[in-house]
Amino acid sequence: MNHESWMEIALEEAKKGDLPYGAILVKDNQIVMRGHNQTQTNSDVSAHAEINVLRSFTMAVKHYSLDVLRGYTLYTTCEPCAMCAAVCVWSGVSEIVYGASTKELVEIGIEQIDISCETIVKQGFQNIKITPGILASTCLELFKN
Ligand SMILES: [Zn+2]
Repeated sequence: MNHESWMEIALEEAKKGDLPYGAILVKDNQIVMRGHNQTQTNSDVSAHAEINVLRSFTMAVKHYSLDVLRGYTLYTTCEPCAMCAAVCVWSGVSEIVYGASTKELVEIGIEQIDISCETIVKQGFQNIKITPGILASTCLELFKN
């Protein structure tokens, strides 16, 4: 599976969301958790796709450490916001692969905190690889329906 194939699965998750954001967590070529935006469903402003995936996983494994997600890759249809990027740092996820950027979302009128996840990660204490722009236009299309 390449980045595009995993992102296709994250896109399927995005279509289930209150807002079209989806994410999956992958390790050793296996999906270990999937999630989507549930801010309205859960009346929870923090129920972003990435937070839902990371929270569901750490609660399922009942293990807490600052590197519980070492070796895991988070695929997300849109660049993690400042909150989600911070949670990525706290969880120690090894890699973030995203589709549409925050800038691209802002350009089509989607409200965002206009700070890149790279900026947050760089200020953190984890070494997280970031791969942007995977199927970005398809991820953006979901907001135009
Ligand atoms: Zn977020």
